[in-house]
Amino acid sequence: MDSPLLPSLALSRGTIDRAGRHRADAGWLDARWKDDSSRVFVVSDGRVAVTGDPPALALLAPSDLAGIDSQQRWFLGLDADDTAVFAVPGDLPEEGTANLRQVGALLSDRDSGLMTTAVALEAWHTHHTHCPRCGAPTTISDGGMVRRCTVDDSLHHPRVDPAVIMTVVDGDDRLLLGHQARWPARRFSTLAGFVEPGESLEQAVAREVHEETSIVVTAATYIGSQPWPFPNSLMLGFHAHAATTEITVDEVEISEAAWFTRDQLAAAVASGEIRLPPRVSIARRLIERWHGTSLDR
Ligand SMILES: [Zn+2]
Repeated sequence: MDSPLLPSLALSRGTIDRAGRHRADAGWLDARWKDDSSRVFVVSDGRVAVTGDPPALALLAPSDLAGIDSQQRWFLGLDADDTAVFAVPGDLPEEGTANLRQVGALLSDRDSGLMTTAVALEAWHTHHTHCPRCGAPTTISDGGMVRRCTVDDSLHHPRVDPAVIMTVVDGDDRLLLGHQARWPARRFSTLAGFVEPGESLEQAVAREVHEETSIVVTAATYIGSQPWPFPNSLMLGFHAHAATTEITVDEVEISEAAWFTRDQLAAAVASGEIRLPPRVSIARRLIERWHGTSLDR
């Protein structure tokens, strides 16, 4: 399902049937793992093997992966032809691999979705090996979508952190962009931040914009979302209207911020004065949606 306002976001294009109905059926999962028409790919620190141009996931049969611990497999779902697709953590060759920032926008819809899910699961499994209640080790359950405590049997589900990201415009439809000190030089992008406990998405938009620039936001409209598994964010895109224009940056997260007309931004990008975030990001798509054209460079 697509967002009508931000269609075909690079990492929101997955097509696979997640087939959650099969996750708890260990016998079914075993049979599909032993079926050589099933497909699997290895994930290693956010990287996968890719092949071809444009790139595609290098999918293998499970039996091609000698030495892999099949208990570490994650069931990602069923392809249109009922092929079961799995991912496993493991080692990759030195050559022919890529991370999601590099190929997320280039892969097919199906492969982009598979890789996004597998990269997110890898990060979660890697960092949630023990029970947050009692500290005992946890083991994989439900095809990799759950971890279960070996002592108290509690169930733990993959964590997704919501973050808001927003175009903010003033009364003249100028766009507010900021630069973070930790970003590459000349990178300007939309403001963004994590949603805090007890806060609505709209409140998070207003708080983040005010904290980082002192701009007061009066209205925010949701326009689309994209998973951002670095390691476990879900970016929720908004378009917001500002009631004030005087900028005071916080100097902590944002070191510089400014209002841009469409012509000013196009000229600054063309001259190299400003660099926009990469095409795989929702930030880039939000900026181009406001501008009305793709800002190539
Ligand atoms: Zn426990």
